[in-house]
Amino acid sequence: MWKNIVILGGGSGGIVCANELRKKLSGEHRVILIDKDEEHTFYPSLLWLIFGLRKPEQIKRSLKNLTKRGIEFIQGEVTDIFTEKKSISLDGQNINYDYLVISLGAELNTKAFPKTPKIFNFYCLEGARLSGEAVKNFSSGKIIILIAGMPFKCPAAPYEFAFLIDSFFKNRNIRDRISIEIYTPETLPMPTAGPQIGNMLKQMLESRRINFNPERKFKSVDEGKIYFEDGKTADFDLLFVVPPHTAPEVVKKANLTNESGWIPVDRETLKTRFENVYAIGDVTTIKLPGQYKPDKPLNLPKAGVFAHYQAEAAAENIVKEISGQKPDKIFSGDGYCFLELGDNTAGFAKGNFFTIPSPFMKMYKPGKLWHLGKIIFEKWWFWKWF
Ligand SMILES: Cc1cc2nc3c(=O)[nH]c(=O)nc-3n(C[C@H](O)[C@H](O)[C@H](O)COP(=O)(O)OP(=O)(O)OC[C@H]3O[C@@H](n4cnc5c(N)ncnc54)[C@H](O)[C@@H]3O)c2cc1C
Repeated sequence: MWKNIVILGGGSGGIVCANELRKKLSGEHRVILIDKDEEHTFYPSLLWLIFGLRKPEQIKRSLKNLTKRGIEFIQGEVTDIFTEKKSISLDGQNINYDYLVISLGAELNTKAFPKTPKIFNFYCLEGARLSGEAVKNFSSGKIIILIAGMPFKCPAAPYEFAFLIDSFFKNRNIRDRISIEIYTPETLPMPTAGPQIGNMLKQMLESRRINFNPERKFKSVDEGKIYFEDGKTADFDLLFVVPPHTAPEVVKKANLTNESGWIPVDRETLKTRFENVYAIGDVTTIKLPGQYKPDKPLNLPKAGVFAHYQAEAAAENIVKEISGQKPDKIFSGDGYCFLELGDNTAGFAKGNFFTIPSPFMKMYKPGKLWHLGKIIFEKWWFWKWF
């Protein structure tokens, strides 16, 4: 009997899952991908877009291209998920599923940030484009990069952004006129990668005169000043924010989330507690078995690399379930990350987040090859999935 597999979200997790399912299932089964946007954006390239190295059309692809591969694409906003009835609702239309994969990502909450020509959200396409214009027109003063809440996706991105800004102004010979600071609630950069990598990054920031201000919880902001929960303030001429992240309203409304605000899943199979419902990527929360300090549990960071590997595992488990086998394909907790450092160089970290007693990450010596690796990855991404 043929099955209806519905995938919510055409981001990193959703497109991999849809492609893998289509490749592995015979044509009688339907693979339906739903997204409110018609286009998929490759977010890692936003950082290059800011510095004029990419144009918006180079880092997007139409999700309609997936239909050539036998994946049905429906554009529309998912407003309800009915796990009891095994259906979802989309612009007033109900769609039934036999299996559901939720890959709806994280929403960026920008309400706290006034619309002024001094404040930019570089975590979305339009915000990144405007950030690029602001950087280009800036010639002296104080720049702050603010991480306004935890968790946030791609723990490396705000630090990569800081390194890229530093290089950009150095190459324009005006770096001495500009101060760059990072404010974050984290204790160290990329804390889940461990104190060794965190301290290494902190030293790299310091060596490039980028001031790192840890454990600063954002409270509010006006046109030129940030207010923190500890009563301290920071003035800025230009502010780049990583806005607080939340799960999309539709998954909260469907009671899929737990006290963390995200969807808990079995960390290996990606199954939720609801029958035939899987969740992958940024919308999920996964407790790690290891930790660095007693009583300080860690969660899997939000990153495209995990959405990708989880999508592969979820797809294979659904195929197994359909063919009457045990869904025992495991997401292993492996991950890697390129770290752009400016001047065509990058670092690279790789490891496993499910190791005990703590996650294991190794940082490789930065160089031009890793930067090239990220460029090749971007090309591969579009070739492989579109
Ligand atoms: C600047 C930046 C740089 C990054 N760099 C890296 C990197 O180098 N490496 C890395 O691993 N990760 C990186 N990331 C993180 C990575 O992009 C995300 O972790 C990844 O996209 C998560 O995939 P996802 O499928 O869970 O969610 P997303 O890719 O966010 O996809 C979610 C999709 O769901 C859709 N959607 C949401 N709500 C609805 C609704 N109600 N109805 C219909 N559709 C809906 C959205 O339109 C979206 O297309 C970066 C992120 C940013 C912002």
